[in-house]
Amino acid sequence: MGKARLAHLGVIVHRLDAAEPFYARLGLSPVRRESLDRERVRIAFLQVADAEIELLEPAGLEGPLGRFLGARGEGIHHIALEVDDIERALAIATASGMRAIDQAPRPGAHGTRVAFLHPGSAHGILLELVERAQT
Ligand code: ZN
Repeated sequence: MGKARLAHLGVIVHRLDAAEPFYARLGLSPVRRESLDRERVRIAFLQVADAEIELLEPAGLEGPLGRFLGARGEGIHHIALEVDDIERALAIATASGMRAIDQAPRPGAHGTRVAFLHPGSAHGILLELVERAQT
């Protein structure tokens, strides 16, 4: 899979406007915000050294993110690893027996391409592979 680096931790929250002031008191302010309408989620990214915390606020209790929040409450939702070549990383992961949620990369936040690996084959962690936007 080549070198991977920690891209972000995905943290699910009830409300960004409650979570953001909390993190601001720790010195972490949003570097960008966006909405993914298809996923029905609002996102704020906090820079932490070379990585980020991705705060996820689902629009409701429908959809995978909303159901997660309803069932498990706030907390860490996924770990995202940045890879150079997401097709290659996904092929290697599935060839080695990891279960992919996404059979092919799909659009993620800020122009990235992402694919998720199922926690059932990843030691209990929902893993997101992310390839940075080509600029
Ligand atoms: Zn993520």
